Formats: sequence, structure tokens, C-alpha cells
Amino acid sequence: MSFDEQQTPATADLTPVSRRAELFPDATDDQWNDWRWQMRNSVRDGARLAQLLKLTDDERAGVAETAKIFRLGISPYYLSLIDPAHPFCPVRMQAVPVKAEARKRAGELRDPLGEDPRRPVEAIVHKYPDRVLFLALDTCSVYCRHCTRRRITNGGEAELNKTELEKGLEYVRTHPQVRDVLLSGGDPFLLSEERLEQILAPLRAIPHVEMIRIGTRIPVCLPMRVTESLAKLLRKYAPLFVVTHFNHPKEITVEAKRACELLVDHGVPVENQAVLMRRLNSDARIITELSHACLKMRVRPYYLHQMDVAEGLEHLRTPIEAGVKIIEQMRGWTTGLAVPHLAVDLPGGGGKVTLQPDYVLERKPNETILRNYRGQPYAYPEPEETDCSCPYDDVWRAQRR
Ligand SMILES: *Cc1c(COP(=O)(O)O)cnc(C)c1O
Repeated sequence: MSFDEQQTPATADLTPVSRRAELFPDATDDQWNDWRWQMRNSVRDGARLAQLLKLTDDERAGVAETAKIFRLGISPYYLSLIDPAHPFCPVRMQAVPVKAEARKRAGELRDPLGEDPRRPVEAIVHKYPDRVLFLALDTCSVYCRHCTRRRITNGGEAELNKTELEKGLEYVRTHPQVRDVLLSGGDPFLLSEERLEQILAPLRAIPHVEMIRIGTRIPVCLPMRVTESLAKLLRKYAPLFVVTHFNHPKEITVEAKRACELLVDHGVPVENQAVLMRRLNSDARIITELSHACLKMRVRPYYLHQMDVAEGLEHLRTPIEAGVKIIEQMRGWTTGLAVPHLAVDLPGGGGKVTLQPDYVLERKPNETILRNYRGQPYAYPEPEETDCSCPYDDVWRAQRR
């Protein structure tokens, strides 16, 4: 494996090419920076989209053929980042449907992660021993064309009503093994602060809930939603982590950076989960630049997801090996914190597993031979003693009671 060091991307400055002035000339700054104005002016149908963006034939067909399959919705802010001259613009590929999305392939699943059989109540997906996913609503600021939870975000589940919310909370309350609750949907930051707090406050009051995570694309698609008042609200429920979803460095604009830094400044750590998408970000240079841009605004790269086997997404899937190769081109060559975990969420509901390049060349009883990131072999001598039990552990456990 060789990685041309000349190719290591210089950390680019934030130079967003926004078409705001051209597309929304009448919007005042107050309107533009008001997330509710952005939501009211979201582009939700093909006719409006075609007025604002010259669609390719593939996109025109995509918009028409996916109309009955999955919602269209693009915030003016996100739309203004689309390159009008290039169908492979990463923002465009995530927001504008193409024909391939309307095609179902054999083996593709409506519920690719096997979540529905693991929903003891409407609001909860309980798949791992100690943590649950809490689904709060079915709406988003932008409907990602790569959404794999579209059976939910396509509508029909709506915002949790009082009964369903209470059942979800009751489930967490009565399952003491749940120490981590991941709030998602839909996008929880589209809830009013009052509604959000009606979920966070009772969750935080449950003694065994040690931490809360919120999965959101707001910093990417609607950064004006991150207000000081939202950041302060979130800080009250610490430890609370925001997990966001930047897929390409082009999305890291001045506005996105302001949103992330505001959260971090208020004591809310932010992590990023990217999804690997063919011909959009399936290149080590892009993922490396994305990671660097995230770290520069104190957002930690967390997962790099292999695309789920969801209906209509074959055209965005990469071979497993492509992801492993990207990690191999990052590990050692850049800051360890910049290297995400490559995760495959197993089709059918097995949960996530992580993959990484195999650095072990040979295992012998007395030593293991490994290669380093440059491919050079090194020996690690194995110790003579192999008992790894910790004698103090019982003492420590007894003392804590
Ligand atoms: C991804 C996921 C989680 C969280 O997994 P981590 O590896 O802890 O980030 C929890 N529940 C479900 C259903 C998930 O898909």
C-alpha cells in the first residue's frame, strides 16, 4: 500500500459558493437566519425545484419516479449550496433524486436494519444490551436521498403523541439495563424547544440513564436552528452528545461551523457520522479532508458507515473493500482522531460491526508479526505470562457499594 504524500489534502478554508443571492433575492437576513422561515420555504416538489435548479434528464425522471416513493424536501440553505453546473455535486446528490432511486433490486430491504421486529413500543428500537434508539418524529429539514430509515421519514408516524411518548419513557424507566438513549427520528431538532424538553427532562430524571445522544442533520442542513437558547437547553441535560452527519467537506460552511462551535462552546460535544457513498465521497482524500474540517471545528469523526442495503440505494453503495482501503489510507498518515470507525450495520438486524485493515502478517507463539501503515514488518514479542484477570477488581467493586 502506498499513499502519495503529495496527495494529503491541505485543509481547505471554508469558501462556500452559495447561490442564496441568486435564488432567494428577496429573503432578508432575518428571514434567512430564521429556521422556521427556512422550513416554510423548503422546496417540496419537482416544479419548484425545477425553477431553482436546471435538472438533468436523469434528475427530472428521478423526481417524477420517486414522487410516490419518498418525500422531497430541501431547505433553501442546503439548496443554495448545490452546484448548478454539475450533477455529481455532493450536496446535489444527497438532495435531488435520480432515476436509480426508483429501482428496487433483489435483496434490498424496506427495513434494512431489522428494526421493526425490535420495537417493543412505537418509539423504541432496542437492539443492543445497554442502549436504545428513541424515535421522536418523522420529519427532517432535508430528505436525504440516501435515507435508509425512509419507511419512517416518509411520513405516517408523525410526531410522537403523548401516549406513545409516555410508553417510550416508561420502557426506558422499566429497563434498568438501558444506560444510553439515542434520540433520533426524523430530526429531533425540528421539535420546538418545549417539545424537546418534554422528552429530555423525563429521560434525564431516570437514574439509570447515564447519557443521552441526539442524532441530527441540523448543523448540516439547517444550521440556523442551532441557537444559543437550544445550546443552553441541551447543556442542562449533560452528559448529552450531539451526533451529526456531514458527508463531504463542501457541507462545512461558515454557517455549519458556527452551529457546531456554538454547541461545543456550551459544553455539548459533537460527533460526526458519515456515510460512504459511491462517487460522492468514496475517496480517501475526501474523507480525510472531511475529518480535518470536522476536527477544526471540534467535531470528532465517529463512524464511517457502509451504505445499508435499503431499497433504491444500490447506485450509492461501495464495495466493502473500498471502505477498508480508505481507512488504510488514513491510519498512520493522519491524526488518529481523524480516522473514523468503518461500520457495517448488518442487514437483517445483527447490529453494527467495524472493519479495519488487517495489519497482522503472522502469529507465532512467542511473537506476532505486524506491518505498519507503510507496509513495513515489525515484530511484537508476546509476554510469557498470559493471565489477564485483575486481582484488585473485586475489592474495587466491593468498595463502590
Ligand atoms: C447505531 C445504533 C445504536 C448506537 O450504536 P453505537 O455503536 O453505540 O453508536 C443504538 N441502537 C441502534 C438501533 C442503532 O442502530
